[in-house]
Amino acid sequence: MSDASVALEIRDLHKSYGSLEVLKGISLQARDGDVISILGSSGSGKSTFLRCINLLEAPSSGLISMAGEQLRLKKGKAGDLEAADQKQLERMRAGIGFVFQNFNLWPHMTILENIIEAPISVLKRSKDEAIARAEELLKKVGLFEKRHNYPSQLSGGQQQRIAIARTLAMDPQVLLFDEPTSALDPELVNEVLNVMRDLASEGRTMLIVTHEMRFARDVSSQIVFLHQGRVEEIGPPEQVFGNPNSERCREFLSSHL
Ligand code: ADP
Ligand code: MG
Repeated sequence: MSDASVALEIRDLHKSYGSLEVLKGISLQARDGDVISILGSSGSGKSTFLRCINLLEAPSSGLISMAGEQLRLKKGKAGDLEAADQKQLERMRAGIGFVFQNFNLWPHMTILENIIEAPISVLKRSKDEAIARAEELLKKVGLFEKRHNYPSQLSGGQQQRIAIARTLAMDPQVLLFDEPTSALDPELVNEVLNVMRDLASEGRTMLIVTHEMRFARDVSSQIVFLHQGRVEEIGPPEQVFGNPNSERCREFLSSHL
């Protein structure tokens, strides 16, 4: 039976690169409005996990559902899974917004053009409508006055806020963030985290890979600690930060305070 309040469900996700098994059976459920922070050492599989969710990376096995609809998968040439129905994949992908570590703005387009491009070409919005929505989002992230600038004219923190606005312009149901502040100078981290705090308090469903422990503790409904491709610890922030079951998790947290 489908459960509409489950925004995203991953079951027993595995991913190998050749003989290297990177994800060893990850299951995770995000309900509407959940903010799930994913912690773990470098190489534990955090990015691979996020990338498998919308098939930026081909999982080796497992199930992926959004809002109760299961993504249909089939075995591809290399033995990994691929979408059995490209139309369904595109539809489900449109429900997922991805914010990357390195912003990935298009350098040859202005800020406004960056934001309206996909709504016009993918969602078939009129230009006027796309601009109106983009301007609203630019005000939300506090960068309306930069709309005619190019990405290179903005600081890293500003570029990441634009990247978030660009993602929101597609009206995704779920937002995935892969270390969105790791490429930033320390003094620019908070302006991005503050935008993310606003999104969390609006009830957005978010999966966030981050090393910002205080932020994760403040905004998350669940904390997931990955270790060598497995969920080593999962629970509400009070429990994971206050009294983790796993000794490895405890060590990781104490070395990241
Ligand atoms: P994290 O984001 O937690 O640092 P990753 O998901 O990037 O970890 O990587 C997990 C493991 O998978 C690492 O050992 C990494 O070297 C390996 N890996 C990631 N991408 C590839 C790839 N395209 N080919 C081979 N190995 C990869
Ligand atoms: Mg990573």
